[in-house]
Amino acid sequence: MGNLIVNTRDQQFVLFEQLGLEKLLQEEPFLYFTKSDLLMIMGEAEKLAVNVIAPTLKESDRMGCKFQDGKVTVPDCFHEPFKKYCAGGWLNPMDDPEVGGQGIPFGVGFALTELFGAANYSFAMYPGLTHGTAGLLHSFGTEEQKRRYMDKLYAGEWTGTMCLTEPGAGSDVGALKTAAKKMPDGNYLISGTKCFISSGDHNLTPNIIHMVLARIEGDVPGTRGISIFIVPKYRVRVDGSAGEENDVATGGIEHKMGIKGSATATLNFGENGNCIGELLGREREGLKIMFQMMNEARLGTGMQGLALASAAYEHAVSYARERIQGTAIQEGKNPEAKPVAIINHPDIRRKLLWMKAHVEGMRSLCYFTACSFDRARVARSEEEKRQREGLLDLLTPIVKAYCSDKGMLICSAAMDVYGGYGYCSEYPVEQYLRDEKIATIYEGTNGIQALDLVGRKLGQNKGANVMHMTGLIKNKIDRLQSSPDLKNAAALLEEALKALLETMNFFAAAGKNGDFILPVLNASKFLEIFGDVLVGYLLLDAAEIAGEKLKVVSAASSLEQKVLFRENKEAAFYSGRIASAKFFAADVLATVRARCESIKLADKSPLEMSEEAFAY
Ligand SMILES: Cc1cc2nc3c(=O)[nH]c(=O)nc-3n(C[C@H](O)[C@H](O)[C@H](O)COP(=O)(O)OP(=O)(O)OC[C@H]3O[C@@H](n4cnc5c(N)ncnc54)[C@H](O)[C@@H]3O)c2cc1C
Repeated sequence: MGNLIVNTRDQQFVLFEQLGLEKLLQEEPFLYFTKSDLLMIMGEAEKLAVNVIAPTLKESDRMGCKFQDGKVTVPDCFHEPFKKYCAGGWLNPMDDPEVGGQGIPFGVGFALTELFGAANYSFAMYPGLTHGTAGLLHSFGTEEQKRRYMDKLYAGEWTGTMCLTEPGAGSDVGALKTAAKKMPDGNYLISGTKCFISSGDHNLTPNIIHMVLARIEGDVPGTRGISIFIVPKYRVRVDGSAGEENDVATGGIEHKMGIKGSATATLNFGENGNCIGELLGREREGLKIMFQMMNEARLGTGMQGLALASAAYEHAVSYARERIQGTAIQEGKNPEAKPVAIINHPDIRRKLLWMKAHVEGMRSLCYFTACSFDRARVARSEEEKRQREGLLDLLTPIVKAYCSDKGMLICSAAMDVYGGYGYCSEYPVEQYLRDEKIATIYEGTNGIQALDLVGRKLGQNKGANVMHMTGLIKNKIDRLQSSPDLKNAAALLEEALKALLETMNFFAAAGKNGDFILPVLNASKFLEIFGDVLVGYLLLDAAEIAGEKLKVVSAASSLEQKVLFRENKEAAFYSGRIASAKFFAADVLATVRARCESIKLADKSPLEMSEEAFAY
């Protein structure tokens, strides 16, 4: 076994063998990297994740964050790793050198995110949100604002937050009550309460820069009247140094199921009428601006699902190979039969392959999405750029919701593999499960992501984005018709894709007939189906490549297949990738048609049943 958190061989396979990242390195702005440079960076990240961050997992969960005398402290074990992380330049390796980054492709950046997230997700949240905050200043700040705030954020000297949620405004951001009053000097007085703010207060860095959504006095209600403000915990002088305390008080922190090392704070802005904020960008463009950070955070949350699922799987498979329990089913009632490792039991093998297939498919999906961004950067025409950015738009809610939902199920399956020990804190899988759950809720619940997919993303660019994506899948199906090994799985993908497209048409027809409630009612179900089709496609794409590589490895060996897989790790790896694809097609894609038909039955019981019937 490897590092017990992420299969780095699979990371490399997805990036270089499946997504062809090396080709991207022949184009500006990636021209200055070789594959070995990127592998070296990934190797260093793995060392930091495994040797420095992962050892904080249990301790940070046990200690949690503390709130005393109005101040929040993070687990002690976070301080040194955070310094090392920032000093090593891990906060923004994907960004331009002009802001202290190295300009590596986003695809590789996601591989690093997976490693750090799998090591300890609550730790990874502090730099993650800081990166998003700095990114907003980079894109929308004035030169003066960049100089005063952004550089210190990118360096990890200060951290950042995103402040949207209020007690009465969660999913409905437009209902926010936080107010901003313009002052004669052009700054704003901010007043209101934000709750559930990740990294809202802590003692990791001497200053925190909050990005706060608020409504300027007199502006229209709803999302159109929202502006965004830079609100530092300590005001920042013209020379960039932190000055007096701003009027931002921490009301408390949440006691949570998981991510206990991440401080989730209630922040009271302007209790003393003296909280000063600066406008970022233009008035009433706050939500549009914040969407840059939200989209980054949504992809990050999908990565949380992948990262924790990956760690849970790696642990489960290792445990299953060691834990001796029961005899092989083939031994029947033989009283002399020796007990075997649980990986020999069919049900455990099925569970493990289900987890493995999903983890690998999600990894391909997340990196494919990140590479769409990289490919948009090297596009040769506006049309090509639009196409690639269109994929990013379409896939963001799917990555967020699908990977976090499946991530949760994978962590739960890992616990089942451990049996009773998995439920106990002696082993880390129960923590992975607890740390993962929040990913289905924050950054817009998965229900809200599904509405975004069905209500906005399917029709975006007059449906061109979705047609582009499904066109790629169709091409793959056509290619695989002639593959003796994969044609049956490809036929299952074809049927699943047909069913998916028919369901989209069904939604469109329902909308035209004024029955828009059907797509809304079935949005979450549809998102899962779309995710399954994408994962099935990417697994088959990977299996095709793995099949070719396996032929080469096998040809070079005189060993019979079973022995080859035991002796040669590469052969075992490729054969595992093929097995994942075939299994996923038979186990998941084969059910897509039935799930689509169930949507088309147009059952409206949840809406027609009286509210009282839910309760009594
Ligand atoms: C640990 C943690 C960290 C967080 N970090 C941050 C942060 O850093 N910054 C920040 O701003 N917020 C943060 N949040 C807040 C988080 O984003 C919200 O909790 C989330 O968006 C849901 O809002 P809510 O809790 O008010 O639930 P509600 O909005 O009340 O939703 C409750 C349920 O109703 C559903 N629902 C609501 N409206 C609709 C609708 N129109 N259609 C269909 N279903 C609907 C939701 O999907 C959900 O299932 C954090 C929360 C937690 C717990």
